[in-house]
Amino acid sequence: MRINLSALILVLLVATSARAAEDHGVVITPVPYSAGVVMSQAVQAGITPEKAIGILKAGNERFLSNQQIKRNLKELVQKTSEGQYPFASVVACMDSRSGPEIVFDQSIGDLFVIRIAGNVANDDIIGSLEYASKVRGSKLIVVLGHTNCGAIKGACDEFTMGNLTGLLRRMQPAVIAAKTTGARNSSNYAFVDEVGEINVADTIRTIREKSPILQDLEAQGKVRMVGAFYDLSTGQIHWQLDLDSVNFSTK
Ligand SMILES: [Zn+2]
Repeated sequence: MRINLSALILVLLVATSARAAEDHGVVITPVPYSAGVVMSQAVQAGITPEKAIGILKAGNERFLSNQQIKRNLKELVQKTSEGQYPFASVVACMDSRSGPEIVFDQSIGDLFVIRIAGNVANDDIIGSLEYASKVRGSKLIVVLGHTNCGAIKGACDEFTMGNLTGLLRRMQPAVIAAKTTGARNSSNYAFVDEVGEINVADTIRTIREKSPILQDLEAQGKVRMVGAFYDLSTGQIHWQLDLDSVNFSTK
């Protein structure tokens, strides 16, 4: 059989552009969010940055009252296996007591989570956040600090050890900026927590300054960046929604 090469190329070109249209041109009809729903592209499309904050607040309320949603994790694994559409990204400390999925009562497929001692940001972390929001459609970036943070205490005491020295140095501007009276070291719990709160604001500012991509998404209202502070002794999340009111350091 004689193949008409031009016709074959034309068919291939049409097929390719049809696929491109499917990938980029399809309008997603939003599906309303309900707590515990499996995150799909349609559910994610219906969530605004403000709604995302509300979802996390409600999740922390459930956690506080020990009324967590009972989920079928095996089913969730299966239902999310084809793709992920998390509604928010969280940059949290590595502390074993402040796991974001737990304290926000979220589960598989709900959140991008980046964890590092002292919830600081570097280029790799910011690149990950850019992927989460620009490529995967995540609506909210939460920097989650916590009370009584060991990394913050280390920074307050100017602790040095191996590779930890450089990491703790990232928190120094917050140590310098804190205004709590009394000892300026880890023996002063109020001082440590003020440094932790300032460090959250500093991390957000670092992300904004180093990421034109995220700045742009924020300016368009597609993404919002907020701070939050987890109280290890109560399980409560305190929000820093108005970052202008936080005592920014000069980092
Ligand atoms: Zn910590």
